Amino acid sequence: MMDSIHSDDKAGRALVAGGAGFLGSHLCARLLRDGWEVICLDNFQTGRASNLATLASHPMLTVMRHDVVDPIPDLQVSRIYHLACPASPVHYQADPLRTLRTCVLGTIQMLELAERVGARLLQASTSEVYGDPLQHPQQEQYWGHVNPVGPRACYDEGKRCAETICTEYAHTEGVEVKIARIFNTYGPNMSPNDGRVVSNFIVQALAGQPLTVYGDGTQTRSFCYVDDLIDGLVRLMESPSAMTQPINLGNPAELSMLEIADLVRACTGAQVPIVFRDLPVDDPAHRCPDISLAQQYLDWTPKVPPREGIARTAEYFAQESQASPERESQAMAAFMQTKRGGRRQGRARVV
Ligand code: NAD
Ligand code: UDP
Repeated sequence: MMDSIHSDDKAGRALVAGGAGFLGSHLCARLLRDGWEVICLDNFQTGRASNLATLASHPMLTVMRHDVVDPIPDLQVSRIYHLACPASPVHYQADPLRTLRTCVLGTIQMLELAERVGARLLQASTSEVYGDPLQHPQQEQYWGHVNPVGPRACYDEGKRCAETICTEYAHTEGVEVKIARIFNTYGPNMSPNDGRVVSNFIVQALAGQPLTVYGDGTQTRSFCYVDDLIDGLVRLMESPSAMTQPINLGNPAELSMLEIADLVRACTGAQVPIVFRDLPVDDPAHRCPDISLAQQYLDWTPKVPPREGIARTAEYFAQESQASPERESQAMAAFMQTKRGGRRQGRARVV
């Protein structure tokens, strides 16, 4: 169904804020494949130029180094995917005020741009808006159970506020917005030092180190493979204008951390033990999306089962572990060289 929506005659120019990150880099690749001209905007706080290396010579990609909290010039785009924000608890808690500024001021900047140029905006929200949920699985109508002054609040409350800001720009200013509540997603292009559970376990297993399970490992999450998630984002962006309510996107396959550890050991063949570490403060006990709305309105259901997705991700990290330590600086230098008018084909550059 969506393939026809994204045929070349419909594609235009899209902005992907946070496009050098884990999800953003996959989204850039997908949109380029669908015939879109893509502007990838990123401050490289947690993103990596190397995530875009395979796209570097693509004639329809422009990479723009910019912080979303800063005023942005009018970029003539018809779609803004607003993904710019650190997503890993380790990263978003490293500088909570910066995270809040990104969530609140960054979202306002992106919405102001959308209003000025008449673009539709998709906000990358999160299952964290449900906090440590008392409803299970979580439906979109659920208001959540969030500690507003805990260590996760800079992200949880920042993203909740961003949803409010999007909703008010839609009501008051007429900006077309879509809100994706993304549940835990994993796959290639996650940073090895990202701190999230799937990347941690795989990196540890490949290095022959014990897997660090926080708490007793019975807490659950529902893990979606990145290709499925990106397809959901694109479907949501291109859904009819009337579809304005937040939509859960995630794989309802719910696993405990102990089950994830077993899957990682099975997929990597690593015979490593588990070590138990303290459970972080306010760590949600369970998380599982009700995806009825996405199934009904977007015709979207995740297809990649966890075992297959984790095997693919482990393959990626195995290759990454062989990459030269200079890879990231080389990838960035390649973009910078193009900016200075280097001989590279294509238009990908940092501007
Ligand atoms: P990521 O950290 O890999 O990517 C975020 C990107 O945004 C990075 O490239 C980073 O450099 C960039 N960025 C951060 N702050 C910025 C700023 N102020 N200005 C410009 N760029 C900035 O994270 P991800 O997993 O790719 O997540 C992308 C989005 O999806 C985030 O908004 C996140 O909240 C949301 N999300 C992700 C998940 C998940 O499981 N991956 C789950 C829920 C929601
Ligand atoms: N976790 C873990 N070991 C790790 C990293 C995370 O057991 O090395 C746990 C963490 O406590 C949480 C779950 O895995 O219960 C998911 O954590 P992640 O940071 O991936 O995502 P989030 O907490 O944001 O859902």
